[in-house]
Amino acid sequence: METNAIRVGLLGLGCVGSGVIRALTRNQEEIERRAGRQLRIVCACARDLEKSRDCSTEGIRLTTNPHEVVDDSEVDVIIELMGGIEPAKELVLRAIEQGKPVITANKHLIALHGSEVFAAAESQGVNVAFEAAVAGSIPIIKNIRESLSGNRITWVAGIINGTGNYILSAMEKEGRSFEEVLADAQRLGYAEADPSFDVDGTDAAHKLTILASIAFGIPLSFEQAYREGIENISADNIVDARELGYRIKHLGIARRTEGGIELRVHPALIPHRRLIANVDGVMNAVVVQADAAGAHLYYGAGAGGDPTASAVIADLVDVVRTLTTDAENRVPHLAYQPHALSDLPILPIDDVETACYLKLQARDRPGVLAAVTRILGDRGISIEAIRQRQSMNGDSGEGVPVTLLTHAVPEAQMNQAIVEIEVLEDVLSSVQRIRIETLG
Ligand code: NAP
Repeated sequence: METNAIRVGLLGLGCVGSGVIRALTRNQEEIERRAGRQLRIVCACARDLEKSRDCSTEGIRLTTNPHEVVDDSEVDVIIELMGGIEPAKELVLRAIEQGKPVITANKHLIALHGSEVFAAAESQGVNVAFEAAVAGSIPIIKNIRESLSGNRITWVAGIINGTGNYILSAMEKEGRSFEEVLADAQRLGYAEADPSFDVDGTDAAHKLTILASIAFGIPLSFEQAYREGIENISADNIVDARELGYRIKHLGIARRTEGGIELRVHPALIPHRRLIANVDGVMNAVVVQADAAGAHLYYGAGAGGDPTASAVIADLVDVVRTLTTDAENRVPHLAYQPHALSDLPILPIDDVETACYLKLQARDRPGVLAAVTRILGDRGISIEAIRQRQSMNGDSGEGVPVTLLTHAVPEAQMNQAIVEIEVLEDVLSSVQRIRIETLG
């Protein structure tokens, strides 16, 4: 082994772990010219050592016991690519305790336990790097944390789950239902066997929690993030949106307001002329609105072995370059100095103000629309557009679809109006609400 080599222990040889080995092997010379050190993966773990891997593990000591990797006295740096909370959390804390820097792509772990992990790292003076935890290959953490440090950031909005975006894009392109497209995505390997975190907004909320912390200097607040999935988006909603000049995307939004921070993941209608409205398939994109820099759009592959490995290796190079730097002179984990985090409250969703798309089925009868608009008017909600489809063969009993676009209104006010509309005798369905984000 070369005398100045950095010896890496790799936890996990799956999609991202094997991508890291491939890229480190393929680009070894380029990477080492940048790092100024040789980088060698000396040991790695997986659950099943008989499984064939998408990379060569020649020269790497393999084990099924992750503790052996962390405790190996030869190892200088740990890369955690196992995923999940345990045993990943225990292993990361154990590596930190031994003074070993950690690189991780584990958004779940950072969003839920990042505060504990960073506190341990700060007390040991070691670095924990997590660029790969948000938006795969896109260097969004580094950009917000370092390149925009002269700005006051107003909001961050992103398509930060590739699976969800693939599903919505395919529903739009092929006019198919959520269930049909999801089944195909699972068959093609774009969606996990258990896709719940991707479609119910949990995965996006993990990433948004991390983005909000580094954008606004607030503690990680996953539990307070509002989450709504894409399961209830229909092909009809997508057609409606298109006809009205919008596209439906599953957005994560963190916004600074006078009352506190909005932290929410939900489907949203976005004007089709916005660049982010045109991000399709498994791609990710994040818009950051900053006072001096203006709006920045970051776009790229949000997942996959090679793209995610790109972010992991960038972190490895950064960690190696700062190994000999005093801990207090490194970039803080959450962008702001740990003692300077602010206690801005996270706003409950009831206090968030958005324009809305409303959809309901109503009897094709005079006076129904007037009753609906009266309720909205009484609640101080102004209407931007209203549309009722004509019934082709009389009232079949299911009613006719009515679509409304409203101006911005606090969520609680809209909830009350929806309750009142739903009890109208001529309204035959529940009222579906999709928020509108103009991202202006
Ligand atoms: P993966 O394909 O499931 O790989 C996980 C690896 O960890 C596997 O090699 C597995 O061994 C090993 N492992 C799991 N538990 C273990 C244990 N108890 N002991 C020993 N080995 C264990 O996962 P991935 O897709 O690479 O994701 C890794 C991390 O990156 C996750 O935190 C994920 O959220 C994050 N991430 C992934 C992507 C992506 O596109 N996949 C993108 C961004 C971030 P076996 O192979 O033997 O099962």
